[in-house]
Order: sequence, then structure tokens, then C-alpha cells
Amino acid sequence: MTEKKQKTEVEAEVKTEAKTEVVTEEKKEDKTEEKKVPDAMIKAENLVKIYKTKETEVLALQGLDLTVQEGELTAIIGNSGSGKSTFLNMIGGLDRPSAGSLFVAGSNLFTMTEKELVLYKRDTVGFVWQNNGRNMLPFLSALENVMMPMHLSGTQEKHDKAMELLELVGMAHKKASRMNMLSGGEQQRVAIAIALANSPKLLLADEPTGSVDTRTANYIFDVFTELNRRGQTILIVTHDTALSKKVKRVVAIRDGKISSERVLKEAYADRLKESDIDWRSEDTQDEFAVLDKVGRLQLPQEMVSELGLTDNKVKVFIKDGQIVIAKPEE
Ligand code: ADP
Ligand code: MG
Repeated sequence: MTEKKQKTEVEAEVKTEAKTEVVTEEKKEDKTEEKKVPDAMIKAENLVKIYKTKETEVLALQGLDLTVQEGELTAIIGNSGSGKSTFLNMIGGLDRPSAGSLFVAGSNLFTMTEKELVLYKRDTVGFVWQNNGRNMLPFLSALENVMMPMHLSGTQEKHDKAMELLELVGMAHKKASRMNMLSGGEQQRVAIAIALANSPKLLLADEPTGSVDTRTANYIFDVFTELNRRGQTILIVTHDTALSKKVKRVVAIRDGKISSERVLKEAYADRLKESDIDWRSEDTQDEFAVLDKVGRLQLPQEMVSELGLTDNKVKVFIKDGQIVIAKPEE
């Protein structure tokens, strides 16, 4: 490396640090103005996203509420087009929400300036996609790809951290391989290491096992579980029912809103690695309907059908300390 180049790099780093300082100051001010900054990792309230095209407007998120605490591993499931990617992109700072409120790690995604958003994307969140072409360079090695986004000061430091991450995802033995020589599953594991390069507070993954085989999907999923065991907060969108059954908390999105939530039964919590459990068929989770702030409740479709309603009214009353929903007498 030439001396001149080194100097430019050092200058660039100093500049970045100075910027970080300024932003921290701004943030502090924000916090005092903002009366109550939630301490949850993610707090979305009544979140709305409208996509405007020339002809129409698409309401991709329709008043979504979700709170995720630090240290949680949460899965999001839902049909195609239900708003899963939209929600993840809002949290990842890739796109701006239209209305409602969204806080991630204490940052207000609505009031963030473009400059703050750049730092937010670099330092606070890490993103893994179904196809990770966009955050890796095919002709560089796995190791170089993990080191590239890092903003640690020394090359040795970067190297050590990158090796640590490659070991974590089981790819240390392929550190020198160029990305375009790796299989889809291997690239996906390196992509997780890249997403973790700057120790993000929150790891986001949008269908990370969508284009790999079942065995690889299981392996990748185990990597997420292990990362979570070490304290990493993770939000993961998945289509895979068997995998989602291994997660402590699964939220379902329907039409841009959280419609129900499943929580892993206590009895299964310590058995995640046991191979004699058939995660696809066993009933490993309890299902809950979600009650929003103003008391609106979305009932599971099967229950509504079973009631055999003829119009949209139901009787609601309290009996023996329980709320009963019944078909009106005809
Ligand atoms: P999912 O990830 O659950 O499949 P998405 O969040 O991608 O769903 O999409 C939710 C809705 O928003 C869909 O109706 C989709 O067509 C629409 N949508 C997503 N992105 C855009 C966009 N950039 N412009 C217009 N409509 C969009
Ligand atoms: Mg999607």
C-alpha cells in the first residue's frame, strides 16, 4: 500500500469518527425532546406504508403494531404480498414509512436525517436477503468480503474479526475461496458473516433459506439460533413452516397487519436440537390472537367459518370471567 493511500484512509476514518460524534450529539438532543423513547429493540405502532405508482396506491402496511425486545429471535410468516418485506425494509432503513411510528434501538426512523440513516444502516442493522448478490463482490474471497464493510481501524483487527465470524457460520475453511466458487448455501453463510461485520444491534433476514435445499436451510437456521443464544437480536422472515416451528415467537402478517402470534411451548424450549422431534407435524406452539391498542381483535379464519355467520355482527359478552364471542340469535 502506498503512503499516500494510507494517509487518505486514515483521514477518511478520522472523518467518519467525527461524524459519528456529531450524530450522537444530535441523537441526545432528540431524546430529550422526544418525551419517551421506547427501550425495546423494535417498536412499531400503527405503522403504515403506501406505495404510490402512476395508476394506483398500494397499502402495503395497514397499521402494524409490533414490539420486539432485545435478545429475541422472532420469525415473521405470511402469504406472499402480505407486507413482510415492506416491514423489514422499513426497519432496515431501506425505505421510509408513510405514517405511524417506528423506533429501532432507540432511533426514530421517521425523524432520522439522510446522514443519520447512512450510519444507522452501517452500524445498527445487518441485512441478509434470499439472494445476497447485492452485498458481496464475486471476485473477492470470502474473507475479503467480510472485511470490506468493516469500519474497525486496523487491518489485523478486521482480519481477526472476519475470521471469528467465518468460524461462527462454519466457513473458516473456505476463507480464501472466491465468492463465485461457493455454493448457494455457502454464499448464504458468508452473507450472514458480512451482515454481522459491524456487530449490528439487530440482524434482519428476509427469507434467507428461500433458495437453498432443506439440509442447508436447517444448517443456516441453526446458525441463527446459535447467534441468538449468544445474545443477537434477530428478526427473520420465513416461508418454511418446519423452521418457524422451532422459533420461540412467530408473528403472522395478513394484509399489512399482525394477525396472530405463536409462542413455543415451554416443553419444547430446551429441545430445539433434538432430532427425534418432527417439527413439521408436532404441535410445538400455542397460538394467540392479537388485540390492538383500541381493542380490535382479528379472529382466526377457521373459527369465523365455524361460527357460520350470515353477516358481520357477533355477540360479545363476559361469562365466568371470560369474553365470549357468539353468533347472534336469529
Ligand atoms: P411480502 O414480502 O409479504 O411478499 P411485500 O412487502 O413485498 O410482501 O409487498 C406487499 C405489497 O406491497 C404487495 O402488494 C406488493 O405488490 C406491494 N409493493 C411492494 N413493494 C412495492 C413497490 N416498491 N412499489 C409498489 N408496490 C409495492
Ligand atoms: Mg417478500
